[in-house]
Amino acid sequence: MKKVAFYTLGCKLNFSETSTIGRQFEDKGYLKVDFQENPDIFIINTCSVTENADKKCKKIVREAKKISPDSYVAIIGCYAQLKPTEISEIEGVDAVLGAAEKFRLIELLDDFAKVQETKVLASEITEATTFNNAFSINDRTRTFLKVQDGCNYGCAFCTIPLARGKSRSNTIESVLASAREIAATNVKEIVLTGVNIGDFGIVEGKRNERFADLVYALDEVHGIDRFRISSIEPNLLTNEIIEFASQSKRFVPHFHIPLQSGSNTILRKMGRRYLRELYMDRVSKIKTLMPQACIGVDVIVGFPGETDELFLETYNFLNQLDISYLHVFTYSERANTRAVEMEGVVPMKKRNERSKMLRILSEKKRRKFYEENLGKTFTVLFEEDVEEGKIHGFTENYIRVAAKYDPMLVNELKLVTLDQINEAGNVEVREPEMVYEKH
Ligand code: SF4
Repeated sequence: MKKVAFYTLGCKLNFSETSTIGRQFEDKGYLKVDFQENPDIFIINTCSVTENADKKCKKIVREAKKISPDSYVAIIGCYAQLKPTEISEIEGVDAVLGAAEKFRLIELLDDFAKVQETKVLASEITEATTFNNAFSINDRTRTFLKVQDGCNYGCAFCTIPLARGKSRSNTIESVLASAREIAATNVKEIVLTGVNIGDFGIVEGKRNERFADLVYALDEVHGIDRFRISSIEPNLLTNEIIEFASQSKRFVPHFHIPLQSGSNTILRKMGRRYLRELYMDRVSKIKTLMPQACIGVDVIVGFPGETDELFLETYNFLNQLDISYLHVFTYSERANTRAVEMEGVVPMKKRNERSKMLRILSEKKRRKFYEENLGKTFTVLFEEDVEEGKIHGFTENYIRVAAKYDPMLVNELKLVTLDQINEAGNVEVREPEMVYEKH
């Protein structure tokens, strides 16, 4: 029985895809093992957004070859699609597969028999037009379910459309089938994942269905207690979806909404499809209907043309906004994007300073959000995440809580009252003894 190991860089989408490819191997009789367990085959799923993607990829290949010198190494993922030739030149790589090929790698790589030449099977990204269903089974508690892939937006800084292709989706019927399959494994929470999930509904180039209808349909699936929308563009997060989430027992009050900049000048240069006023309106709609909702924000600092004044516009905008945390990205130049041609390059030192300022702001926001919720009762899904005698989990509104470790709590939903913030920044709860009533 051949042994195969996987390594994943990047986002939830990559994790869901690696997990699915892993199941394909198991179905064909391969044994899935850990990276250290002398595998015969290594599959490395790469990311183009990761800083120094090339160095990371080389390092992992080197480690793989140290563990199993005669192993077969295949590279897949966004970076493989963007730079197939470059990757094929890395010592020890046997095959590179692009976005249109990665789900067929077992069939394409001929029993993983080593040949002299590195195989490069990466068609043009325009060929990646079919949707491949994927979901991760990482632990017993949460699953990332891919419902959409690719993006038609073309923001000035982004390589994702070049690496993943045009927007395309699963059908509602097929997502429901996956959700039921996941429910049968006793997973309690599904995180809906995609590149631009609000754009859900395009099949073979035609818009057939809507994201809102997917949400309505999933809400009826029995056996899954929670659905989380991983990240959604502000212009696609409609009142209809927000209003529905505010009434739903299964869709949780947690929204992650990319902002990228709080300056309209920069938003226009980035080619984003909204201005800050719309963003403000989305936040206020959510908070009016769900005052306890958690709102996470993606923001990029140091985009070309971001002067000190324009950065301050972003800082002040975020400071006054009722949000819960930030994911801060320091802008870095990416080949073949419009932004690399733009004037007004921000020196790296400044980019790092701005990033630090926003990270501090994020910590303040998170703490304030946690403090506002102390004394209130929420439902926690406890995970297999144990540190120093404490078990951890997340509330529906994404507050990370800590309770005294009890193995019986793993993968259980419990009603808890938030007590106090501990030194690690998590919220301690009173005894999680109240039973959660399943819906
Ligand atoms: S919406 Fe913009 S940032 Fe997001 S994946 Fe599409 S092009 Fe990239």
